[in-house]
Amino acid sequence: MRPAYAKIDLDALLYNYRLARLRHGKCCFAVVKSNAYGHGAVACARALAEEADGFAVAFLEEAITLREAGIKKPILLLEGVFEPEELIEVSRLKLWMVVHHQAQVDMVVRTAISAPLHVWFKINSGMSRAGFSPFGAHRAWQRLMASGRVGECGFMSHFACADEPDSDTTARQIEVFDKATHGLPGARSLANSAAILAWPDSYRDWGRPGIMLYGADPMPEENHSLRPVMTLESQVVAVRELAVGDALGYGATFIAKRPTRVGLVAMGYADGYPRSATNGTPVAVGTKLTSLIGRVSMDMLTVDLTDLPDTDIGSTVELWGKRVSINHVAKAAGTISYELLCNVKRASFVWSGGK
Ligand SMILES: *Cc1c(COP(=O)(O)O)cnc(C)c1O
Repeated sequence: MRPAYAKIDLDALLYNYRLARLRHGKCCFAVVKSNAYGHGAVACARALAEEADGFAVAFLEEAITLREAGIKKPILLLEGVFEPEELIEVSRLKLWMVVHHQAQVDMVVRTAISAPLHVWFKINSGMSRAGFSPFGAHRAWQRLMASGRVGECGFMSHFACADEPDSDTTARQIEVFDKATHGLPGARSLANSAAILAWPDSYRDWGRPGIMLYGADPMPEENHSLRPVMTLESQVVAVRELAVGDALGYGATFIAKRPTRVGLVAMGYADGYPRSATNGTPVAVGTKLTSLIGRVSMDMLTVDLTDLPDTDIGSTVELWGKRVSINHVAKAAGTISYELLCNVKRASFVWSGGK
């Protein structure tokens, strides 16, 4: 069998959740959208089921998967519903849902379902991606409440720059949110991972940590002692020697400047390893760090073994995990950890820990 694995440490996940929960206080949704950022939503939600106050996903189908897997805690739909028919399932499965624009208010007002919905009313406090403008919010909220379809209604907003501790954007967003919701009854939710780590002023009734649960620090230059949850791992499957001047791989992007020992690794962009990763991107072979050399292919990539004489066919290669920070790989590939994690596929998933 091809030795490409995504190993998921569910104890690390639980550790990171506890850290987020302790810092934020009150309640936290564990954000498990996009298949738990590529880690397996069902396995991750089960590992957190006893301790997480609730879960958050992007849309209905993701929530159905969790309910069918036996998850009974509150599940919030961060994008809310797209069609009125979805409200039947939302009600039947007792899901919580965000309402972030007028069309969604209309759906709630017109729905025939009678069971009260649990809504989180989203305010645009400055990111301007989703949410009601702070000026129009009050009227839309009144209309929603007057529909008689809403049991509980909380207020939420999302930050654009919480990972920038020196920017004043987050403080301004908090102020806008507080003003827009002043005096209105209901729970509040603001903080994503970066805000939980950097903006105590944003702590409200519910935090919404995502990326930090998976041990990828949204502010890599600080050390928040998160534990990486995923190890993307494979093996050296062939070894060859390059003479000085030999070109390696598609596009000949690497030319040997010294006699070079190259390890061929069973991992490629079809597994989710980024093709944009450049020469020099860190990888670990055995316990030692070395570099990606040459272009990443669909099913293979190549690493420099010149200074690692103890390595051979069968040596373990870590593409990211506890030895190689996913943030370093993301930087070398011109992207962010979120995208790398969500893209992992085809490799064999192995979950460990978590009871
Ligand atoms: C994805 C998401 C989160 C989690 O964000 P992280 O940066 O991964 O912590 C929180 N809130 C909303 C609305 C989201 O879409």
